[in-house]
Amino acid sequence: MGASYCRFCTRRRKVGDPNKISMRELESAFRYLEEHTEVRDVILSGGDPLLLSDRRIDEICRRLRAIGHIEIIRIGSRVPCHLPERITPALCAILKQYHPLYINTHFNHPDELTPAAVDALGRLADVGIPLGCQTVLLKGVNDDTEVMKRLMQRLLAARVRPYYIYMCDQVAGAEHFRTTVEKGLEIIRALRGWTSGLAVPHFVIDAPGGGGKIPLLPEYVESITDDAVVLRNYAGQRYVYRQPQPDTAPQAPTEFEPVLAG
Ligand SMILES: *Cc1c(COP(=O)(O)O)cnc(C)c1O
Repeated sequence: MGASYCRFCTRRRKVGDPNKISMRELESAFRYLEEHTEVRDVILSGGDPLLLSDRRIDEICRRLRAIGHIEIIRIGSRVPCHLPERITPALCAILKQYHPLYINTHFNHPDELTPAAVDALGRLADVGIPLGCQTVLLKGVNDDTEVMKRLMQRLLAARVRPYYIYMCDQVAGAEHFRTTVEKGLEIIRALRGWTSGLAVPHFVIDAPGGGGKIPLLPEYVESITDDAVVLRNYAGQRYVYRQPQPDTAPQAPTEFEPVLAG
């Protein structure tokens, strides 16, 4: 577990129907968080926290907010996609009391941004909740640059900032959904520079065994020396960025200029 955040993951704890956990059972998790003053970020995920009752969500958030060193609460939920009518004004009024609170949703295809889903996202954004989205790269579903670009642009229009694109986990039964890492890189290359930077999520592989998320980036650097960095932009044009030269006399600033020879 990282030093600065703790993931209170109901999935790992195998708690069954989370509506049946009593606050007394959750108390051990709250006590852990109280004792670990280095934890400043708590993520409620696994199962789906927004499927809990309003009362239970209110109790859990209130209890977390009573712990002074917890700075932010994050909720991971597919409810805005799969059950948008669950995002009621009453639920939004509860969540609003516990800022700073962030919600990460999960959309994989632009067609999932139905009018009902967009309305639900709007209700969450209206109570000041910053919204992010995690997307899984799925063969035959969204392993296509145009589909992904439309998804990211529609998310932004629905007030959601794309956050992660994941490679599909290497789990049994998911093989037919898996595609190559190169396809993910191709998608990022098709977004960066070609649409709003806000529409470009981090492309990551979630390393097994708690290894964390490892970012993958298309290669834009051709070479780096002490003198200069040679780069290619999104359109393939070459640029040279001059490194600072510590031991030379002050000189006029030079422009960061394209190299004529492509
Ligand atoms: C994704 C994840 C987090 C959160 O990661 P951020 O990069 O901080 O959003 C925390 N714990 C686990 C186990 C995760 O998989």
